[in-house]
Amino acid sequence: MSFSHLGLSAPLLKNIAAQQYEQPRPIQQEAIPAILKGKDVLGIAQTGSGKTAGFALPILEKLQRTEPSRNRFVKALILVPTRELAVQVKDVFQAFGSGLPRKVKTLAVYGGVSINPQMMQLQGTDVLVATPGRLLDLINSKAVHLSQVEVLVLDEADKMLNLGFKEEMDKIFSLLPAKRQSILFSATLSNDVQSINQMLLQNPVTIEI
Ligand code: AMP
Repeated sequence: MSFSHLGLSAPLLKNIAAQQYEQPRPIQQEAIPAILKGKDVLGIAQTGSGKTAGFALPILEKLQRTEPSRNRFVKALILVPTRELAVQVKDVFQAFGSGLPRKVKTLAVYGGVSINPQMMQLQGTDVLVATPGRLLDLINSKAVHLSQVEVLVLDEADKMLNLGFKEEMDKIFSLLPAKRQSILFSATLSNDVQSINQMLLQNPVTIEI
């Protein structure tokens, strides 16, 4: 199995080769075609499985067929539990997204640092990687709008819940358009994760690694 069989276009395949990824990991073999088809995906996968490229690559591919983001209306929202993960996920989007025909702007926002630079950088952002609390602060300041989100990713959903972000997550979900694609990654399928799955995902493709 090679990356060229998964439905990704030449510019992305070039970036994959530049990252020295030779073969897709099992999670990537399943998640990439499903996400490209527009399916909701429930992935039960650990850190280290290659899940990040599993969602970043098809999202970048889909963004190639969209208009640039207007103002502060982000197109893809990746919710993560921690600042460290936010930076890691943003780095993956930027590495695979460099030099694509349709430029993709990715930004990471998280708490514990000043909010003003994040507010200024949000203009024109396509992919926003965010921790829940800081995202809500930015929404309340009208620095970002979720009404044009086409794809939502919850990364490490179990950890996000364990850190006590349930209320913030519910508020964020209430601001998303009903018509969107939803992707949920979690290391475990706890009852709380299961209830988010049932509330947010429609007919998901389930991938367990
Ligand atoms: P993740 O589970 O997304 O945090 O990825 C774990 C590590 O595996 C990261 O260092 C990735 O760069 C690496 N990785 C992911 N997919 C591949 C692949 N297909 N080939 C080689 N390395 C990979």
